[in-house]
Amino acid sequence: MTEHLLKILIVGDGNVGKSSFVHRYVNGQFNKTYKMTVGVDFSVKLLHWSDKEKVRLQLWDVAGQERFISMTRIYYKGALGCVMMFDVTSASSFLNCRHWKQDLDNKAILPNGHSIPCILLANKCDLAQRVVSADSINRFSKANGFVAWMETSVKDNTNIGEILSVMSNLDSVQ
Ligand code: GDP
Repeated sequence: MTEHLLKILIVGDGNVGKSSFVHRYVNGQFNKTYKMTVGVDFSVKLLHWSDKEKVRLQLWDVAGQERFISMTRIYYKGALGCVMMFDVTSASSFLNCRHWKQDLDNKAILPNGHSIPCILLANKCDLAQRVVSADSINRFSKANGFVAWMETSVKDNTNIGEILSVMSNLDSVQ
């Protein structure tokens, strides 16, 4: 059995739903009061890829350190993909994605010299008080080199399983 280690970063402003996402993905639950310990931390999910291969998925959450926007190189080291999240009811969390992406492009470099692929998630799409339009997300995503963007609701479990299958099909991961 071959085991692959896949380090994926989860970045974005505080309160957008990152730890809920990790918790939902790893434990299959949405828990309103769940909160990870403060500090960079990771959760692991084992995926059985085939009879001969398994993938140890490491999800790194910036929990509690989002105010710095700039993360240390240690956090980025060895990461093969990134999930960037904002909250569709918070314009500032969307605007800050520009800074998150710049930091990522400067520090998370693959051995081939490219920056790591990043998916943009527009979370909390279950809420009515939305302030960020699909049109502006689309434009932002194209202009800033995201591989894809998706609307998600960690609460309703919308598009959550799909994200990491998109990730695992990326060139950097294979
Ligand atoms: P983090 O600071 O980015 O890790 O955000 P949390 O995971 O702590 O979530 C912040 C708040 O948003 C919590 O109260 C969650 O219950 C809530 N939340 C997370 N995802 C969703 C979602 O998809 N829809 C709604 N309505 N609330 C969500």
